Amino acid sequence: MRTPAHRLPPPPSALRGRIVVAAVAAGAFATAGVGQALQAAAKDGRNVQLANHTDGAATFSGTGGDTRYAPHVLAAHRTTPEGAAEAAKLLRSQQITTRREAAEAETRRAKFACPAVGQFTSSFGARWGRMHRGIDIAGPIGTPILAAADGVVKDAGPVSGFGQWVRLVHADGTITVYGHVDSYNVREGQRVQAGQQIARMGNRGESTGSHLHFEVWNPDGEKINPLPWLNDRGVTV
Ligand SMILES: [Zn+2]
Repeated sequence: MRTPAHRLPPPPSALRGRIVVAAVAAGAFATAGVGQALQAAAKDGRNVQLANHTDGAATFSGTGGDTRYAPHVLAAHRTTPEGAAEAAKLLRSQQITTRREAAEAETRRAKFACPAVGQFTSSFGARWGRMHRGIDIAGPIGTPILAAADGVVKDAGPVSGFGQWVRLVHADGTITVYGHVDSYNVREGQRVQAGQQIARMGNRGESTGSHLHFEVWNPDGEKINPLPWLNDRGVTV
C-alpha cells in the first residue's frame, strides 16, 4: 500500500529570484538580457557561481607574481615550519613516554616463573634405583608449560626418553629443559620471556602419565636440583 510522499512542490519563483540576483551581480551578465542569463543559469547552477566570481577572481587566486595579498599562501608558509617543529616535538615526547613506560614495565615484569601449574610428583634425586635429574609436575595433557626465565630456544623437538623436549638457554649459560611435552609452540633461536607459554604438557617418551619433567643445567652443564634454583629466584612450585 503506497502513501503519498510528503514532498513540498519546488519553489520555482524563489529559485528564479536568486538566479536573477546572481546574474545581475555578475559583470559578465551586465550586457546580456536577463532572459538569456536565466536560460544559461537554469542549465547549470554552477555557471552562475563561476560568473558571479569573475570580478573578484584576480584578487583571490593569487596566481600572479605578487603573492602579498594571497592569505592562504602566507598561511601555508607560516604554519608549515612551526607545525612540523610542533609535530616533531610531540613525537619525541611520545617516544620518550613510550620508552619510559616500556622500561618501567620491564622492571616490574617477573623475570622467573613456575614452569607449570600442577601437582609436584617427583623431586630431584635417587628414585627407583636410578638418579632422577629433574622435578616432575603432573597435570592434564595440554596444561600450559611456561618458560622459567627469559632466554632463547636452544632446540625443540623429539628426543629419546623425553619424547619431545624444549630447551632454553639463559643469559648466564644456564639451560632449562622441559620434557615429555605433548606439543610446543616455539622454534630454535626464538627469544622468549619468563612466563611465556612454550609448550603443552604431555605423556610422550618414558613417561607413565601426563607431566612435565623439568631440568636445570648449570653453566658447567651439570644437572642441578631445579627446586632450590627456582626458590632462590622467588618461584615456588
Ligand atoms: Zn621426571
